[in-house]
Amino acid sequence: MNKTNCRERLRRIQSNPSLEDLLYFIDSANQAELELMYRSADELRREKVGDQVYLRAILEISNYCRRACLYCGINCRSANLERYRIGIDEIIDLSAKIFEKGYRTLVIQSGEDPYYTAELVEEMIRGIQQAAPGMAVTLALGEREESTFARWRAAGADRYLLKHETSDPRLYAELNPSMHLEERLTCLRNLKKLGFQTGSGVMIGLPGQTTTSLARDILLFKELGMDMVGAGPYVELPGFPADWSPERREDLTYRLLALNRLVLGDVHLPATTALSTLAEDQARLLALQRGANVIMPNETPFRYRSLYSIYPNKKRTESASDTSFLEELSKSLAGIGRSVSFARGDHF
Ligand code: SAH
Repeated sequence: MNKTNCRERLRRIQSNPSLEDLLYFIDSANQAELELMYRSADELRREKVGDQVYLRAILEISNYCRRACLYCGINCRSANLERYRIGIDEIIDLSAKIFEKGYRTLVIQSGEDPYYTAELVEEMIRGIQQAAPGMAVTLALGEREESTFARWRAAGADRYLLKHETSDPRLYAELNPSMHLEERLTCLRNLKKLGFQTGSGVMIGLPGQTTTSLARDILLFKELGMDMVGAGPYVELPGFPADWSPERREDLTYRLLALNRLVLGDVHLPATTALSTLAEDQARLLALQRGANVIMPNETPFRYRSLYSIYPNKKRTESASDTSFLEELSKSLAGIGRSVSFARGDHF
């Protein structure tokens, strides 16, 4: 394909993406075409969301889970895992400390743990707002009833993350026993309807996944009107090997980041922890130059951190409590003309 055709395809992807155009860049593009795509995604990132890299603190409040997802290390069948959960009072105290460090977005994440009832989470949201005024409260607690989401929204939660993981219904059903893709999508639609800034996402390189389904994932993000999209590689669990090599999963992660940026415009896209776990240190910087504009440092207290083991060897070093982490990050971002931002970075 000549350069003009390639540019034409990239323009179509921004205005009216087709499965075929997306698949071309996922499966067939040569090195020069990929470079052109990455440059277009980086330019669009600058134009739509600027040069700041938003920091979102993650707090992993529980590794109890009622689900049995085959790819996830904290699923209910992981018999040897020591389980923990953080009580509401401690979560609220931690939110104040995270606020003092400068963060204005807090992501509360956990396994699907029924201990956190609708009432308890409502109390938690109100407590965080008092302890950390102005903090964008982001929940990632799994699937719930619409009425529960409504209650949390009314209590002041701003955002919700719920990755659809794969848009291939057959693969979804295989990987998530007792779960249904349609129910997950209904949750995402309900969250949007209720006015949450809503994030979905996928894992790249799940056993049995096809590149066609990855292209469909991008079209689904657009159809759902997602405000945030987290696309990271599948990190292998012992006994559940990926079909694709780590290099292929890393490469596809960059392609998806760039295509998500081109298709979704001003969306927020993290350089995921899964990518930093799978690949070399410079992977995060590459991701930020190929569409990403968010980093999510882990602010879970060290005594719990290693227990939230959704995959092995999860990067543990990143935490802004570790001042050297922030300094090093600022320095490496400055090297690519970017800067750290603690601002809320809303998406309206
Ligand atoms: N229970 C919550 C949070 C799950 S953990 C929910 O369902 O939304 C957050 C994310 O970790 C998941 O959405 C999944 O995309 C990711 N994850 C789980 N296992 C993984 C693995 N082995 N490799 C990479 N990412 C994984």
